[in-house]
Amino acid sequence: RAKEQGRDQHCFFSNELETTLLQRHNIETVLREAIKTDALEVHFQPQIDLSNGKIVAAEALARLKHQGSYIPPLDFIPVAEEVGLINRLGEQVLLKSCQTAYRWQAAGHRIKVAVNIAPKQLSSPEFYDQVIDILSKTKLPAKYLELEVTESALMHDLEATKLLLQRFRQAGISIAIDDFGTGYSSLSYLRLFNVHTLKIDQSFVFDMLKDEQSLSIVKAIIGLANALSLTIIAEGIETEKHSLSLTELGCDIGQGYFYSKPLIASNFEQLLLNNIESNNGF
Ligand code: C2E
Ligand code: MG
Ligand code: MG
Ligand code: MG
Repeated sequence: RAKEQGRDQHCFFSNELETTLLQRHNIETVLREAIKTDALEVHFQPQIDLSNGKIVAAEALARLKHQGSYIPPLDFIPVAEEVGLINRLGEQVLLKSCQTAYRWQAAGHRIKVAVNIAPKQLSSPEFYDQVIDILSKTKLPAKYLELEVTESALMHDLEATKLLLQRFRQAGISIAIDDFGTGYSSLSYLRLFNVHTLKIDQSFVFDMLKDEQSLSIVKAIIGLANALSLTIIAEGIETEKHSLSLTELGCDIGQGYFYSKPLIASNFEQLLLNNIESNNGF
């Protein structure tokens, strides 16, 4: 009885913590193995030119398969960051993305690939050389690569980041700010850093048709991007209504389940073939 009580008590205050630690430990094990055996997958989600419905780019999204299903990036990316695997993960994703994008180029599709870069990758001294090396290995022209970074990653070391982004720009690689509007940064960094693209965070897109404030924020971000001659991408477009509304507001590019979920490379290539044949989306 006492033993039982003890166990109950134990469960009472540490059950949740234990599950989380166990899950994290399991994810780490699966992730280590995937990186070691080069088994990480990359899926691709189309980005659509809203003026003509054509695919102009693809966002590369890391996928970790375990026992027939996928562990979400929101679960394994933070683990990768914590246990020091994010640089290797990022390098493998970048390599696979550039290899795949080169195949698209070779097949005559002039579209970009956008790859998510974690804050730790951006601040790693080897990162610039790693990117240039992968481009030369895969023969992907630099102008077809876009690096997606978050506002918080940019704010880490302003001077170093500014120089790094200048070097990327000189090399012909473009930079997008992901989840724009959710970080803590001030707008002045848009002047400091030479970025090409703003991605409106999906939370504003989800709410823009039912909430005036979200709509105002979307309008303001599009206005800001236009004033600074930046390309603007809206992500999280799930309905035709959102698509039409964003097109009307002057948004350049759309991404979301309305057009397509992220796809394995061969399915994405199928979509690209349809892209040539028809002019009005899918
Ligand atoms: P993100 O970069 O903002 O990517 C967009 C996320 O929104 C993706 O989730 C995508 O599948 C999802 N999404 C796209 N369209 C829609 C839509 O219409 N509705 C909804 N509800 N969701 C949509 P995913 O693939 O689960 O990735 C989540 C996050 O994980 C990414 O957010 C990114 O921050 C991170 N991530 C993914 N792959 C990588 C990677 O290779 N490296 C790093 N550092 N982070 C990654
Ligand atoms: Mg992204
Ligand atoms: Mg995002
Ligand atoms: Mg984003």
